[in-house]
Amino acid sequence: MAKKIILSVKNLVRTYGEGKAKTEAVKGISFDVKKGEFIALSGPSGSGKSTTFHQLSLLDNPTSGIINFCGQNIIKLNEDDKSNFRLKRIGYVFQHYELLPELTAIENIYLPLMVDKGITTEIKKKAEKILNEMGLLERKDHYPAELSGGEQQRIAIARALIKEPEMILADEPTANLDSVAGIKIMETLKKLNKEKGITIFVINHEKAFEKYFDRIILLKDGKIERIKK
Ligand code: ADP
Repeated sequence: MAKKIILSVKNLVRTYGEGKAKTEAVKGISFDVKKGEFIALSGPSGSGKSTTFHQLSLLDNPTSGIINFCGQNIIKLNEDDKSNFRLKRIGYVFQHYELLPELTAIENIYLPLMVDKGITTEIKKKAEKILNEMGLLERKDHYPAELSGGEQQRIAIARALIKEPEMILADEPTANLDSVAGIKIMETLKKLNKEKGITIFVINHEKAFEKYFDRIILLKDGKIERIKK
């Protein structure tokens, strides 16, 4: 049976500036992501990857176009609903991990749930279970500065997972890691995708990691050049 489409991007355009300074960063791209897919957005520097990611993340408003997530055009949500959407439905993983330095590993993981409920025993148990799955339970009381880059990124993935997100958006999650730590992050994401069926959308420009993805959307000059696989 054909897989359901979780994300559908239609004619997405993002233009910066006006007149002579006008830059068309994304020039009307369209693509679908199927539920449970592990998909990459790739392309040379300046091709529009970050701009596209910011639109999908609802961190920036497109000039025009539609982003349907589970059938709802999320661009049209009001600011409160956008914040809620980011908090509850999507897990984010960034290049620089974005952990809070003054919180321990486990506190960083609680964070998305604390906003609503404070820290409950249930939340603590859930965070410990995820940390254990990430192989980092013994690091739970360490601060980010006491962890390696790869460990920090796995904490960031755990923080995304505690929300039980429908999709994970990852912006070059291996960019600041050596190749061994990078492979471990890719293996971790692939396992989550396979075992939990989470849809994962990754900006990636490392050739060596292409084998992990079901499909790769290749951008060039703000347009889709082709979709590989
Ligand atoms: P990539 O992530 O693939 O390197 P970007 O999405 O960052 O590409 O950039 C695409 C194009 O948009 C580039 O020409 C870049 O200079 C331009 N651009 C990106 N952000 C801005 C901005 N805030 N203001 C003006 N131009 C921008």
